[in-house]
Amino acid sequence: MRLKLWGVRGSIPVPGVTTIRYGGNTSCVQVLPEDGTILVIDAGTGIRKLGKRLMQSACGRGQGDVHLLISHTHWDHIQGLPFFAPLYREGNRVTVYARGREDTHLDVVLKSATKDPYFPVPFDAVQAETAYRELREGESFYIGACKVSCARLNHPWIALGYRVEEAGRAFTYISDTAPFSDVLLEHDFISSPPTPGDRPSPENVAKLRQMERALVDLCRGCSLLVFDTMFTDEEYRQRPHWGHSSPAHALAIARKAGVGRLVLFHHAPNRTDDQVDQILAETRGGAPDMEIIAATEMAELEV
Ligand SMILES: [Zn+2]
Ligand SMILES: [Zn+2]
Repeated sequence: MRLKLWGVRGSIPVPGVTTIRYGGNTSCVQVLPEDGTILVIDAGTGIRKLGKRLMQSACGRGQGDVHLLISHTHWDHIQGLPFFAPLYREGNRVTVYARGREDTHLDVVLKSATKDPYFPVPFDAVQAETAYRELREGESFYIGACKVSCARLNHPWIALGYRVEEAGRAFTYISDTAPFSDVLLEHDFISSPPTPGDRPSPENVAKLRQMERALVDLCRGCSLLVFDTMFTDEEYRQRPHWGHSSPAHALAIARKAGVGRLVLFHHAPNRTDDQVDQILAETRGGAPDMEIIAATEMAELEV
């Protein structure tokens, strides 16, 4: 199984001369399993180019069967979807998976993003057959020969991390999450960081520990871990309530799960290529036993 990275950025696309090497498109990772299943994780702006590539094969003939796992529906993880060409070819089938919500349904959320006055083409006008599957954390299911499992992440309004396993090889995709120590992020808008010295309530500490245990179990035995490392440690200290991690947090999870290869992912929009180089060098310097890669648009990784 291989991965191809079509978008590695967080928050908003940032094309330009300072992001040209690592890339400016938002989150989108294609999984290339040996059995040929079309499997994609997240639909940030990177999915536009992936869609064009897919149209050169079965999707172009209206015979594509695309499976799209969404970590959560924040803009940077879905904003490429209206530009995903396989949706506009009759005969294709696109199945979207994401965590179910109590208050609404996944198709309603996605359709609302392209409603007038935001976009000229309503989602109901796409020609492909669409299907939606709402998930719960802890669930496992098969897509072709791939076993997919998911766990909850510590992010405002909740995100899911995914593990994909085929023929004994597995990787995990964790975007977006805060570490499991300082703030429990659920369904409330938290406008400011906790007062220094304040700890979460015992009930919330228990929830965070349980969430971390489930995430470490999800990652265990993987040969590759793709992880949200949008923040530096200093940025995290200022914004622990934003729902993102630093490379140190990612390394801690990788070590707990016994994973030896880590991909730094979801680069901050204001991070220049040179700054990513520097973060990569510092992270590698502190973890000589690990293979650490900074996610680069269009890169392919062997799982
Ligand atoms: Zn994000
Ligand atoms: Zn998010």
